[in-house]
Amino acid sequence: MDSQRLAPMPADWQRALAVVAHPDDLEYGAAAAVAEWTDGGREVVYLLASRGEAGIDTLSPEECAPVREREQRASAAVVGVRTVEFLDHRDGVIEYGVGLRRDIAAAVRRHRPELVVTLNHRDTWGGAAWNTPDHRAVGRAALDAVADAGNRWIFPELGEQGLDPWNGVRWTAVAGSDRPTHAVDVTAGLERSVRSLLEHRTYIEALTREDPERYCRTFLEGMAKDAGERFGGRPAVTFEVFAH
Ligand SMILES: [Zn+2]
Repeated sequence: MDSQRLAPMPADWQRALAVVAHPDDLEYGAAAAVAEWTDGGREVVYLLASRGEAGIDTLSPEECAPVREREQRASAAVVGVRTVEFLDHRDGVIEYGVGLRRDIAAAVRRHRPELVVTLNHRDTWGGAAWNTPDHRAVGRAALDAVADAGNRWIFPELGEQGLDPWNGVRWTAVAGSDRPTHAVDVTAGLERSVRSLLEHRTYIEALTREDPERYCRTFLEGMAKDAGERFGGRPAVTFEVFAH
């Protein structure tokens, strides 16, 4: 249906900052778009609020954090992302608040992106699939921190640290939203997104008895195909885009 057709993502930008709660949040879909963007010569930086240290039942947070950090850096590299930063908020109990907004605003000022990417900030994934508190907190804080980054009086301590206001963010693109407005054709990036998710091997092996590659491929190809039905039949990744 034409009324459900998604618009192509804005293309006139050079730098993106992707802000999510956990290692693997970007790999469950958005990384295919990241691969397309870095192929096109754009720069993408990843910022993770936590190290995902509460994500594996059989590993204590102390054991888990370095494993997940390593897997996240490897998965970022597969899609052309060299800079991966961690804020060290505590996995599972990340709180929406001024501290989180300040940390994200500082990163926005440091990296000066035109595009911010985050994960679903809404209560559900659509229907009755409840979202997690960490995703909601980080998604909302990322959307809010865009304005914070541009206002010198909201977090004046950032200015004192030499981080000048940055007003250049034009859009925030929310992955995993049940109200998408835009999409990226991921014909070229889809295969690398499978490899990228597969780098979270310790996490995935603890999550499912299915063969890890089969698990990653089934999930990502299925999602890209469904999204493509609203984007000219090509495999796609969808975003809900907010203009700033
Ligand atoms: Zn997550």
